[in-house]
Amino acid sequence: MEPGNGGDKAQPLGTVACVLTGASRGLGRSLALALCSRVRGPGSCFLLLARSAEGLAGVAGELRAACPGLEVRCEAVDLGTEEGLRRAERSARELPQGQERLLLIHNAGSLGDLSKTFVGFTNPTEVNNYLAFNVTSAMCLTSAVLGTFTKRTALRRVVVNISSLCALKPYKSFSLYCSGKAARDMMFQVLAAEEPDVRVLNYAPGSLDTDMFQQVCTDSVDPEVRHHFQNMKDSGTVLDCKVSAEKLVNLLLVDSFQSGAHIDFYDA
Ligand code: NDP
Repeated sequence: MEPGNGGDKAQPLGTVACVLTGASRGLGRSLALALCSRVRGPGSCFLLLARSAEGLAGVAGELRAACPGLEVRCEAVDLGTEEGLRRAERSARELPQGQERLLLIHNAGSLGDLSKTFVGFTNPTEVNNYLAFNVTSAMCLTSAVLGTFTKRTALRRVVVNISSLCALKPYKSFSLYCSGKAARDMMFQVLAAEEPDVRVLNYAPGSLDTDMFQQVCTDSVDPEVRHHFQNMKDSGTVLDCKVSAEKLVNLLLVDSFQSGAHIDFYDA
């Protein structure tokens, strides 16, 4: 359990409205816990989004225990569907306002089918479904949240896209994943250019010991990729999510990144 923050003590992030996708497990859970130890509980509110109601409830319980006074709301939604996206947007619109900081963190993501290479993707519905979750939902949720938490002098608005080295570098069997991550990075660079008062960060969190990482080791059709990922795991170079989450929180606290930048865990 991460340290509690003692409720009414001044905390470096102040009061925060935080919308976090993929909050039920993996990096999302660690991010929620790392953030909540830096926010002032009373007046702050976290909205946790993912499909698993049970996973979200578990993380919400941990947050409430670690951060007295923090309001935690959960919405179990599939962000790959229009209905799920609309429910997420509605929940964001219903959040209480008046905080010092808005933090929107797009952490949810998926790898797509790794058992195929590029030329195996012949079904447009499969590709569109992948992009609906990994690209479209991030764009529309951002627009809804920024349209709700509108520009105000006392409000610092921050949007984080959880990116990857795969946004910059091709990997065999990752045609969907690399394309989605590259599209998201550029999308958020455009947001940074258009909205100078919004702080935008593309954060590549490094190799993390999560379900997603394990999926690459078992499912990639490419033996080189499978072995490369498995070797990282066996040699202990895969990061604990907590370590990467702390680095992101530190980047947000120092707040010196150029808006729209792509910052990798290993370079930060
Ligand atoms: P996990 O697969 O462990 O977790 C993914 C999260 O996204 C879960 O909370 C999951 O919850 C949620 N999610 C998945 N599908 C949907 C959906 N359709 N709608 C709503 N939520 C969904 O991934 P990681 O924690 O490893 O990854 C987190 C982020 O970090 C991702 O963006 C990933 O691309 C990125 N990243 C990860 C790396 C790694 O090595 N693991 C390396 C570089 C980047 P639920 O199942 O409850 O819906």
